[in-house]
Amino acid sequence: MCGIMAYIGDKPAKNIVYNGLKRLEYRGYDSVGIATLGETLKVVKAVGDTSKLNLNLIDSRAKLAIGHTRWATHGEPSKNNAHPHTYGSITLVHNGIIENYETIKKTIKATDLKSQTDSEVLAALIDYYYQKSQDILEATRQALSEVKGTFGIALITKDNPEILIVARRGSPILIGIGNNQYFIASDQSAILDHTNQVIYLEDDQLAEIKPSSIDIYDLKLSVQDIDIKTLDNDSKNLDLGDYQNFLEKEIYEQPEALNNVMRGRVSSDGSIVLGGPNLTQADILNLKQILIIGCGSAYYAGYYGKYVLEKILNIPVSVEHASEFRYRYGAFNKENCLAIFISQSGETADTIASLREAKRRGLKTIGIVNSVGSTIAREVTHGGIYLHAGNESSVASTKAYSSMVVALLMLGGFMSYKQGKDSAICQNIASELLKLPNEIYLSLQLHSKITKLSKQITKFNDCFYLGRGVLYAVAQEGALKLSEVAQVHAQALPIGEIKHGPIALVDNNLLSVILLPEDNLLYNKGLSTLEEVKARNGQVLTISTRPKEPLSDFHLQLSHLGEFSDGLIYNVSLQLLTLELAKNKRLNIDRPRNLAKSVTVE
Ligand code: GLU
Repeated sequence: MCGIMAYIGDKPAKNIVYNGLKRLEYRGYDSVGIATLGETLKVVKAVGDTSKLNLNLIDSRAKLAIGHTRWATHGEPSKNNAHPHTYGSITLVHNGIIENYETIKKTIKATDLKSQTDSEVLAALIDYYYQKSQDILEATRQALSEVKGTFGIALITKDNPEILIVARRGSPILIGIGNNQYFIASDQSAILDHTNQVIYLEDDQLAEIKPSSIDIYDLKLSVQDIDIKTLDNDSKNLDLGDYQNFLEKEIYEQPEALNNVMRGRVSSDGSIVLGGPNLTQADILNLKQILIIGCGSAYYAGYYGKYVLEKILNIPVSVEHASEFRYRYGAFNKENCLAIFISQSGETADTIASLREAKRRGLKTIGIVNSVGSTIAREVTHGGIYLHAGNESSVASTKAYSSMVVALLMLGGFMSYKQGKDSAICQNIASELLKLPNEIYLSLQLHSKITKLSKQITKFNDCFYLGRGVLYAVAQEGALKLSEVAQVHAQALPIGEIKHGPIALVDNNLLSVILLPEDNLLYNKGLSTLEEVKARNGQVLTISTRPKEPLSDFHLQLSHLGEFSDGLIYNVSLQLLTLELAKNKRLNIDRPRNLAKSVTVE
């Protein structure tokens, strides 16, 4: 989390860094700051987002600047704790966590700290070595060799406006290359207006950047090769257009996003061809177990995939929270196990740590990632699937989640074909998927109905989301979205579980959102739960492909496409419901309280 933006070159840096920070705000927005270095160092900070900065307080002509938009880990969101932090000659912005900051503080007797952050201690450590050697590269190297934890940093020394140092371990840093200028950012959205030529810094690398040169080193100061990559220029996705917020825009972009993830992969002849995963037919035939690993919505997309993959491949699939998997040593046969890592940003710290742990244990690993060239995309052993969903700016995931599910469905169809299974399975998935973007488009037409429904249910502060099979997976994603964006407490349960305990909470103030499937048998089983909740005076919103049941209090009817993809249609209706509930409560829709996107800290 947190966004870093920095610039060094032959142009005024202030606005370049400010505009870059605005693009990175989804990564953290509790406080913000920019330092410019021209003839003197100037720093401005504020609590809140970039709109709170008084840019008149920094230098308009300086050609070197570093900026930061924060998601606090150590110390409350306050002006003092906002970055950049200056200690002695060093001014620094930091993304990550310095785990041994207390020890460092004592060792170097840093008594002059002005904040509660771990980041300022890192600035103090670099300054400690800089005072001895007056060599900023060497001082940074020495400091970073002592640090435990994660960092992406950009730093300057007050007496040299011609040098910018950046480094990373665990937190992303990319360096955009222009003519006599360099743009440093946590992700590509901040620099796409300036360049599409980038260098991804690797862990434990540091770069010394001057207006017209760059050198990259490891922590022993051995010179590293520079590998320049070209980004897809996708800047049209970066602005709001006619929408009021990115969440709504990105919900409406889903038909296009789903076409993009399927383009060139799913054909009308019923075939699904994936060039990304480097799995041989023998690899697939030998598989005995699949692990799907992710966090938040990526985890719930994995849960959806679990039900489909198990059904069509006949292979057990476990879905793992990355924050748990990285420390869990469960049994699996490494020869026959495939681990799939899902992350929109490709930079989620827990997912990266799990990927490295899986590789250490010898598993085959593939990625399902939106951000091209990100750490997960680069580090998986057997390739994967890019989502091509475009930039997702709202903190709550919508189009990336749907694209992840479609990627898993494509993977299932592709693998079943490679397994030599009945080709009808792959054809059924392909035919549903090809119709899905239009069905999603049609389900978006329910928006005004859902707006009316939202007014009727705004009063509820507690909800159960109940479903079975893929609709349980959708219930989990829906409950997460409702909690994070509309700030309504919501708990997802497999529909059959409610009677084993949670039903104790049911009363007239609790809304149960029951997702009823098309399947006749399971639809009727779901009706029994409806009866049980109503018998206890609970309130019920049913969502199904059929007309309203007499017992339900509120109802939404959706169209039916097929067993693999119906869940995504239900999910769109839940996204719209959350959006409208958040609007009714006048909440900050794109930047929900306490959250940030792309969780690059543990
Ligand atoms: N640990 C640092 C802080 O709390 C950086 C957090 C971040 O990555 O935004 O200020």
